[in-house]
Amino acid sequence: MNRSGIFKRPALLHRQEGRRIICLTCERRCRLVEGGTGWCRTRRNDDGVLYTLIYGAVSSVSANPIEKKPLYHFYPGTYALTAGSWGCNFGCPWCQNWETSKKPPPPAGPFTSPAAFVDEVVRVGCRGTSISFNEPTLSLEWSLEVFRLARSRGLYNTLVTNGYMTPDALRLLVEAGLDGMNVDSKGEAEAVRRHCKGIDVERVWNACRLAREAGVHLELTTLVIPGVNDDSSLYEIARRIASELGANVPWHVSAYFPAYRFHAPPTPVAMLERARAIGREAGLRFVYLGNVPGHPSGNTVCPECGALMIERWGLAVTRNRLRNGSCSACGRSIPGVWGPGRPDRARWC
Ligand code: SF4
Repeated sequence: MNRSGIFKRPALLHRQEGRRIICLTCERRCRLVEGGTGWCRTRRNDDGVLYTLIYGAVSSVSANPIEKKPLYHFYPGTYALTAGSWGCNFGCPWCQNWETSKKPPPPAGPFTSPAAFVDEVVRVGCRGTSISFNEPTLSLEWSLEVFRLARSRGLYNTLVTNGYMTPDALRLLVEAGLDGMNVDSKGEAEAVRRHCKGIDVERVWNACRLAREAGVHLELTTLVIPGVNDDSSLYEIARRIASELGANVPWHVSAYFPAYRFHAPPTPVAMLERARAIGREAGLRFVYLGNVPGHPSGNTVCPECGALMIERWGLAVTRNRLRNGSCSACGRSIPGVWGPGRPDRARWC
């Protein structure tokens, strides 16, 4: 799949402002002086031209269950060939993927073309693609090519993202074939601004609303971190999902483990269970516990009759009782969840 190459290519989204170039890939909207790099270190202004430095730079690739994204209401039980690169536009000190997200990209190395990646998706029997691990927005130019090729071959396309792409970047991704994404909703505005270095959570909510309007399947994840996410901030996230995105949008409350520069103890299961209760109280129909293998709150239950529809153990679907996307007990449609073998693209009802 790989041959050696350089990763520098002209970037797509930018605007000139005097001697500077404003990068319009993500909502940091960095102003790059000549010779300067953006906050993420993956974009550079060379001689008045903005370049991405990570086109075809794949730091890791693996065939993952779609449940690992996590996407629980999107082609359950299928696999997505997942690629990551280098860099991030957030500065979260608890990053669980810091080995690649906190490092600048190498100038050259094994080069993965979009066509070679999509060939690999088919060769290993995956049902679609996922761009993940580090922040996928930074791989915009490469992802667009991957998505176009993948869609033309009947595959699905997903992102696991912090949701900080600009509306223009999101529009390009949707036009290229983005089908589903999991967005990280990190917490209360001031805590996120401080911990993640100047991030405005309203931009993330805006991207989520735009994605829903565009028909992209959406699920949200909150890493529940002791000392960062208290009950009131969790309630506020759940309330906003229900009121701004819809009560059927799944919310994953996931256990955090100490990583990178954050050393608070791992999330107690009781704290996740409380977060789930908060989500249900706020009106969400589907709230899942993440990173707790075997916990019953990893299952999908019909919100109408309470019948168990999809059983999971960790990331594996061990039983799927859906019938054509509906509860096999009472017939209620389970939004976004298709039973095995259904060929349609996942869409909310
Ligand atoms: S993609 Fe990078 S360079 Fe562009 S605005 Fe975001 S952080 Fe800045």
